[in-house]
Order: sequence, then structure tokens, then C-alpha cells
Amino acid sequence: MSKMIYADNAATTQVSQRVLQKMLPWLSQHYGNPSSIYGIGREGRAALEEARAQVARGLNAQPGEVFFTACGTESDNWAIKGIAHALRPKGKRHIITTAIEHHAVLHACATLEKEGFSVTYLPVDRDGLVSVNAVERALGPETALVTVMFANNEIGTIQPVAEIGALCRRKGVLFHTDAVQAVGHLPIDVEAMNIDLLSLSAHKFHGPKGVGALYIRRGIPFPVTLLDGGGQERGRRAGTENVAGIVGMGEALAEALENLPEKTSRVTAMRDRLIAELTKLPKTRLNGHPDRRLPGNCNLSFEGVEGEALLLLLDNHDICASSGSACTSGSLDPSHVLLAIGLPHEVAHGSLRLSIGDQNTPDEMEEIIRVVPQVVARLRDMSPVWERIKDN
Ligand SMILES: *Cc1c(COP(=O)(O)O)cnc(C)c1O
Repeated sequence: MSKMIYADNAATTQVSQRVLQKMLPWLSQHYGNPSSIYGIGREGRAALEEARAQVARGLNAQPGEVFFTACGTESDNWAIKGIAHALRPKGKRHIITTAIEHHAVLHACATLEKEGFSVTYLPVDRDGLVSVNAVERALGPETALVTVMFANNEIGTIQPVAEIGALCRRKGVLFHTDAVQAVGHLPIDVEAMNIDLLSLSAHKFHGPKGVGALYIRRGIPFPVTLLDGGGQERGRRAGTENVAGIVGMGEALAEALENLPEKTSRVTAMRDRLIAELTKLPKTRLNGHPDRRLPGNCNLSFEGVEGEALLLLLDNHDICASSGSACTSGSLDPSHVLLAIGLPHEVAHGSLRLSIGDQNTPDEMEEIIRVVPQVVARLRDMSPVWERIKDN
């Protein structure tokens, strides 16, 4: 075993052993196309339906409301563009979202703006919360869809999803939530929360990469399909199904939801230890809501430190983490999420996201608590601005 400490579970997670074992036969013996009528095809079809039932159970949905996709990004695009295009003929040309969504949502909305839709990007407060009243004030006769993420991938803030769902139901507007960070980590009930569409992705809860799902409430206007082709997914999403991936996703969700309260309290305790110790450093702040946050999320800003440099030094200590700058793109712009909660550019640049999961251990937390202050101090010693920052 390597001594690597993996603290980047919001980026992706390791496939669990149980999930891997469940997937393997579907990559070897049981390789039939689920659309074929002979034995190994029918087996694949049955496996898809078992996985659909597992995913539905995890959301309190009906299996017929679950559609498989290739990733969370596809699910977000399908929900948002699909509903916009389905409702445009009725004169609905307005979308409401937030400033802190994942790029899968923000860029889908930007595409719709180019097509003539208008989009309201609601601000968030300093903790990253969107106000339900602000959603209500933004609603208009042309609003097709409200899309607000369940929990933020960078700062971990959990939105008032049930309240927004109830509001949208009362006003007769469809409600989508990007729940990619929440599924498998928080209890979700699409009925109780009045969610009409929900996106999820297997690799964020110990399933494989390259498979996701979209929950679509029965009876709502169906989102226009993104892919033209064969009749898979009841004619709604063409393309031969990723059987092994889908089987893995169903099993991963079932596994994630077993003993969820117990896992949540264990992960939350580790997270809170990180937060308590690391926020003792001078000129350091916690980003995101103090308690309405994902159990595994610890996002900190260290003034006078470059996030990218911090990550490189942590990598030297075999600690995998992520930063709020240059998140995936190689761009040097600080994260839109950290700017939206009001951080100045230079503070947003010095951010560190540690995202832990139930496979992490308290000993690993102690190692992080030992190493992070060292590397922060080293970077501050080299920083031309730290002398000035530290005294005011
Ligand atoms: C990871 C993530 C996505 C994208 O999911 P992929 O399966 O990687 O495409 C979308 N939204 C959020 C909040 C995420 O964390």
C-alpha cells in the first residue's frame, strides 16, 4: 500500500471493491448488447433494469423516471437544454440559476443565451447560500426552469433545495437540481423535496467514471433529447448502454446509502477536526457554510499563498487535494465560486479544497494537520506580499 493520502473525493472517488466485483462479469462473460434478443443480451437488459431500480430507490423515485447518461455533465445539459427547448414553443424563454453552479450548468445556460433565452444568475451570500426569496422574485411568466445545485463542489454549501422545490411546485415552474455532489452523500427524496429533474454521476460516490443518470419526474414536459440514434432508454437517449458502468452505478449507490448516517458522522468528525486545526493558522478562513456543508468538504483560503504552489508542495508529501484557482482548465482565473462569495482575487488564489470520504482515516487527518501548516509557512516565507499582509 502506498502512503498516499487521497483528499480529492469531490474530483472523483475510487471504485469500491464491491462495485468492481459486481462490474467485472459485465465486461467479460456477459458482453451481450442489451438490445439483442438472445440470452446474453437479455441478461444485460435485466442487469440494466436492476440498476435502474437501485438508482430509483436511492432517490425515492420510480424506475421509469430514471434515464442513464454518460456523465453528470450530460445529465445537466439534457435537463437544462432539453426543458428549455421543450417549453420554448409555449413562450417560455427564461431560466433561473445561481452564480456558483458547476460549469456543466453555467455553460449550458450560456449556450441557451446565445439562442435567445434569458438567464438569471442569482447571487449567493458569503456562505454560498442562495435565498429562496430571491428565487421567488426572479420567477416570471416566461420562466421555464429553475436550476439550483444541491451542494456545491468547491465550498460544500448545501442549498435549501426542499424550500426551492416547494416554491417551484406552488408556482408551477419546473425545478432541476445538479445533485452530483450530493447523491450517495446526503439523503435525497425527490418526492418530499419536489424535485422535477435531478442529475447524478457515479464516479462521485465510488462508482465508475463515464456513467450518470437523469431523474425525470413522470408527467412533466419531457426534455428534448440531445442524441439522435437508436431506441435505447425508451427512445429518449440513444446509444448502446454502458452495461458494466450502469451496473456499477446502481451497486455504488446502494452501497453508499447503507449505514449512511454512521458514515456521515464519521466523515463529518474528520472534516471538523481539519477545519478546527487548520483555521488556527493566521490569516486563514473557511469558505462555505459552517454547518450546512457536505460532510467531506473543507475549503480554506490562506492569504499570501498561491493555491497551485500549495498543491505542488502537498503532492511532494503524497497528499492529493485541489485548489480554487485554475481548477481544471489550466486558466489562472480564480474560481467563480470563491469570487461569488466575495473573496478578493488574491485571497481566492490561495485556496485549498480537501475533500474526504469514508475510506479516509483519522491518522490521515493528523498527517494533513501536520503538513499543511508547514507548507503554508514555507510559501509565506517566500511570498513578497506576506510581510505586508501579516501585520494588518
Ligand atoms: C463532477 C460534477 C459534475 C460533472 O460530472 P461528470 O460526471 O464528471 O461529468 C457536475 N456537477 C457537479 C456539481 C460536479 O461535482
